Amino acid sequence: MRIGVIGTGYVGLVTAACFAELGHDVVAVDIDRNKVESLNKGNIPIYEPGLTELVTRGTETGMLAFTADHAEAIAEADLIFIAVGSPTTVVGEADLSQVADSIEQIAPLVSNESIVVIKSTVPVGTNADMTAMMRRLRPDLDVEVASNPEFLRQGSAVTDFMHPDRIVIGAHTDAAAHLVREAYAPLLAIEEPPVLLTDVETAELIKYTSNAFLAVKLSFINEIADLCEQVGASIADVARGVGLDPRIGDRFLRAGPGFGGSCLPKDTQALLHTSRMFGTPSRIVAAAVDVNRERKLAMVARIVAAVDGDITEATIAVLGITFKAETDDLRESPAVDLVRGLIGLGASVRVYDPQGMDRARELLPNVEYEPTAYAAMDGANVAVIATEWPEFSTLDLEKVRALLEQPVLIDLRNLYRSEDVIAAGIEYISIGRPRVMPKASQKAAESSG
Ligand code: NAD
Repeated sequence: MRIGVIGTGYVGLVTAACFAELGHDVVAVDIDRNKVESLNKGNIPIYEPGLTELVTRGTETGMLAFTADHAEAIAEADLIFIAVGSPTTVVGEADLSQVADSIEQIAPLVSNESIVVIKSTVPVGTNADMTAMMRRLRPDLDVEVASNPEFLRQGSAVTDFMHPDRIVIGAHTDAAAHLVREAYAPLLAIEEPPVLLTDVETAELIKYTSNAFLAVKLSFINEIADLCEQVGASIADVARGVGLDPRIGDRFLRAGPGFGGSCLPKDTQALLHTSRMFGTPSRIVAAAVDVNRERKLAMVARIVAAVDGDITEATIAVLGITFKAETDDLRESPAVDLVRGLIGLGASVRVYDPQGMDRARELLPNVEYEPTAYAAMDGANVAVIATEWPEFSTLDLEKVRALLEQPVLIDLRNLYRSEDVIAAGIEYISIGRPRVMPKASQKAAESSG
């Protein structure tokens, strides 16, 4: 098939590269000329495991091309996937201007044979609005606008696209649904993931419901983690014991510093906005959002307490600034909020992240950036693990103790066993487990008390 992809961000670039890998002839367009130029030189503007190899293979075989000219991407395309951003406005509504602009750009170039597919996450009713817009701009045609929400996760986007849990296609006609399904045919032949053919409103709502449910799960387990700390229980064991029930499942039950990223915060806001518009309040989602907001503040307070309230004198080493491991994305990262909170209180902050430092330098200029985790910890009072990068789970704890002033390790991702950290002589503050101190510090604390 001939496929055009509008937008070469995290979703558009992965979609384009994967469809090319599946044997389609793909042209992807972006309004960001620098990005297109960079892609045409073989430089991938984002960090996503496996993506560079796919893009290189696609461009070398001629199955994948990048352009800043919409006409090139749309010419003779059977399917035109829109994968542009849908950020949040100040009132929590989804800002659909990028999607609407895409329709305006596509309209003069499209033919009756093409199907436009919205892959961006868009609120219920957007598809109908975009169909109406297309009809208004091209009354001479009857172009169908279908919905195919994307469920990939940053950090494992290529694998997720190539091995989907499910493919959701919302279309007005069987012919359009069939054509969108055909684009995935090489995947379906191997693993047979469920393909849900629905109306467009249902497809749109499946995406928001999925993300809202994940957000609820995370806020729920984070509240249970707080309770664990008070009663002396272990959140990891509670989550495991609960997650073994297949009705609940064990995924997304890891307590941490709160959810972030480019999707959950904005999609929960947008769902709340849609629910308000239709007079059907989503109280559970609203609570998950509130809990998450408070959680980010609570993480700052946890660090202030760890330095005995003397935050203006403290130097804090923050390990990890991206919103999760295996991405360079900082959007709504809990680590960014944490650093902002600490700086706002007068702390000195040093950051190390394996992939996120370039973006962080622009966003957080009042921070020292260090080339390694150990350099960030050297002479700092305490260290905070804010992102679950694998390299932070194998730190040399003896070295950590020698480098830190206090020494206290605040692990917001529960990467260590408490006994290993205190055995190295480090006080350990984690999530959903009691705060533990090495024996020597315990004795000192008792005698001073
Ligand atoms: P992004 O901001 O990384 O990328 C959007 C890209 O679209 C940018 O490169 C931008 O320059 C380009 N663009 C904007 N308007 C354009 C236009 N008119 N023509 C051509 N290019 C244009 O966004 P993203 O993270 O890839 O997300 C895209 C959509 O996919 C959003 O709706 C998001 O909610 C959804 N989604 C994202 C993820 C994720 O993990 N990032 C997962 C599933 C779904």
